[in-house]
Amino acid sequence: MVNVSKEKKIINIINNNDIRSKETSMLLEAQLKKYGYTISDEFNYNAELSICIGGDGAFLRAVHKHGFPYIPFIGVNTGHLGFFHEITPEKINTFVENYTKGKYKLEDIYLVEAIVCTRTSCMELVGVNEIVIKGIESKVIHLNVSIADNHLECFSGDGLIVSTPSGSTAYNLSAGGSIVYPALKTLQLTPLCPINSKAYRSLQNSAIIPDGMTIKVNPEYRDENTVLIVVDGKQFKYDNVVEVIFKLSDMTLRRLTLDSQDFWSKVRDRFI
Ligand code: NAD
Repeated sequence: MVNVSKEKKIINIINNNDIRSKETSMLLEAQLKKYGYTISDEFNYNAELSICIGGDGAFLRAVHKHGFPYIPFIGVNTGHLGFFHEITPEKINTFVENYTKGKYKLEDIYLVEAIVCTRTSCMELVGVNEIVIKGIESKVIHLNVSIADNHLECFSGDGLIVSTPSGSTAYNLSAGGSIVYPALKTLQLTPLCPINSKAYRSLQNSAIIPDGMTIKVNPEYRDENTVLIVVDGKQFKYDNVVEVIFKLSDMTLRRLTLDSQDFWSKVRDRFI
């Protein structure tokens, strides 16, 4: 056994049901145990690290399931794109060695929060990539948008994406939004198929909103019952939605990085 401190260090390993993820999980567990780590059977909130094996979808589901824990996480990519993932299964031994030696950095991942108010109550939702407000059943939706309490537009179209910097390379990018460096504390408001005609005028491009400013969206009266809220790909339907207020969440996630690849190289390798 490798010489390490006697302190009992706990690590969470979360993997999806993919065969490659299960195999990687077993190899990783064996390697971590050699260095004296304990692998928790269930998600342990006292763990010093969470390792998520799978793709981006598996990572997003795990974060939501465990309530956005502030435990640092690192991803092992066995999925397709793996934008949240730092290492490949082939590199797990090097990772464990570097981790044990403290050769890593921690960076914050900013989250987006939406307070959804109906005529009777308000709910809070939190997203890692984005929160989308759109019409049900592909209906055009009409939304009054204010930023920092200044009325900006009455948007008409498919909907609006409010994305985090980390989520800027996901749905936001496909919708024509910009890539935002993850350390910038901003939100991005990106229109989904905005209508521009003699009847409706909507901004065609996305806007970057700094921390501390809220984005307030009030559906027009006729649309109060046709609003769909989609958080990181998961849909929520509420009746009589009168207001949705978006802001950067006070919570953050913590990503462990080994500096193996900088952000812009990752963008090049994944998208170009
Ligand atoms: P999923 O897991 O199949 O993910 C869809 C794609 O988005 C995958 O290729 C995934 O690798 C990629 N992705 C996820 N987060 C990313 C990020 N931060 N940067 C770059 N790529 C990222 O689908 P799901 O679990 O239903 O939804 C998860 C995410 O899918 C949503 O948060 C949303 O951003 C994205 N999405 C994208 C589109 C689109 O591009 N047209 C449409 C719907 C949802």
